[in-house]
Amino acid sequence: MNGIQQKELEKKLKNKHYDIVFIGAGVISILEAVYQSKLGNSVLIVEKDDDIGGAWRPIDIFGYKNIENAIHYFLHDDIAPNFMEKNLNWELIQTKNKQRLFKIKFIDKYIKFPFHNSIGRFLSYLIDPMFLKKDNNIFVKTLDLLKKIYQESGQASYYVKGGAVEIIKTVKEVLKKSSVKVELNTNIQSIEIDDNHKIVNLKSDKQSFMCSKLVLTHGARLPKIKSNKKEYSPVEKFHPRPAVHLLVEDNINTKIDQWIFSNNEIIKYVHDLTKFIDEKDRQPDTKVFVFALHPHIQKSSDIYINLHNEIIKAGIAGKKSSLKDYHWTDVFLPTLYDKDLNHIKNEFSPCISFLKTENFSRGIGYQANKWSSRIKV
Ligand SMILES: Cc1cc2nc3c(=O)[nH]c(=O)nc-3n(C[C@H](O)[C@H](O)[C@H](O)COP(=O)(O)OP(=O)(O)OC[C@H]3O[C@@H](n4cnc5c(N)ncnc54)[C@H](O)[C@@H]3O)c2cc1C
Repeated sequence: MNGIQQKELEKKLKNKHYDIVFIGAGVISILEAVYQSKLGNSVLIVEKDDDIGGAWRPIDIFGYKNIENAIHYFLHDDIAPNFMEKNLNWELIQTKNKQRLFKIKFIDKYIKFPFHNSIGRFLSYLIDPMFLKKDNNIFVKTLDLLKKIYQESGQASYYVKGGAVEIIKTVKEVLKKSSVKVELNTNIQSIEIDDNHKIVNLKSDKQSFMCSKLVLTHGARLPKIKSNKKEYSPVEKFHPRPAVHLLVEDNINTKIDQWIFSNNEIIKYVHDLTKFIDEKDRQPDTKVFVFALHPHIQKSSDIYINLHNEIIKAGIAGKKSSLKDYHWTDVFLPTLYDKDLNHIKNEFSPCISFLKTENFSRGIGYQANKWSSRIKV
């Protein structure tokens, strides 16, 4: 190799070396990547899909653009809302329009409670198999339950007014203004670490990268992680949460748009997504519902009609409503637990670390104080 070729090679290798690489362009990873870039680090995000957003990436269905891909809401967190409002400029709406539904099986009818109603909350825990399984006696169990309900009484779930579209728009904006590089359509398939744990070599289906620090999240799908001395194969856990979207023609108007089915064998939650459809695209008397189903539910030809019938029974859709279209998505919740990520971090520290992302609002809350001086829309 002559001098020029040597220099070319060095330049090429330098270009592919980053201080920090993130696997996956999920929302929390993007915010952390931007923060790290603002500290002066060279940062790359490698994403296997053709766009950013991960679990929050909207989908195009029924001729509409950017429909929420699944059931979404933010759980209570003490810190995240302030950061979301002040730094990300999100208008947050507390969920008041939400109900719990209990099916009285022998009459095939539902009773409903407002989401924050303590009786509804009490009943939903009471019939939860986890509660019934607990070993302690019924008196202790009930006391624990009442304590839990009391603690939760001031806590509300909430969401961004503009939904996932607004979330993705914001992170795209933040990303665009930063020096973070993003490689889309690039699936990390090999992770090798040098003996001193100073350099991580990453191979994707297309190209290779090097970095001093690799950041993982709960949503990363990881190959075997290897160094000369040890290796670790994260075991993927699959948590299916099938999602179904229904397009329904219906002329009833209800102020409620989120429902929790406390004891339905098929449905866990239903959200009416119509308000998120761009106003100019909305059709009169046409609604889009998304269902989160129980993990064991399989795709079948009659499932969509059954779901439509069930929301009629529950008073969510009118008796005269008609099913116009449907869409099935195989949703899988994150496949790595804290335990796996902690193990990887301990084994390969300091060149691998991770972000806690399995609960969105908490994931933001963990970092918000640190981010607040550097991330602002
Ligand atoms: C459909 C869905 C809805 C959810 N809704 C909520 C909710 O409403 N509220 C809540 O608190 N939590 C929710 N969660 C939990 C969710 O996991 C967190 O909110 C959070 O977004 C997870 O962030 P993440 O970055 O770990 O994963 P994701 O957002 O899933 O992002 C991971 C990204 O990494 C990419 N990727 C994975 N492996 C590789 C690889 N080897 N190479 C390259 N790229 C890779 C993926 O394509 C993906 O884009 C939801 C999860 C899912 C799946």
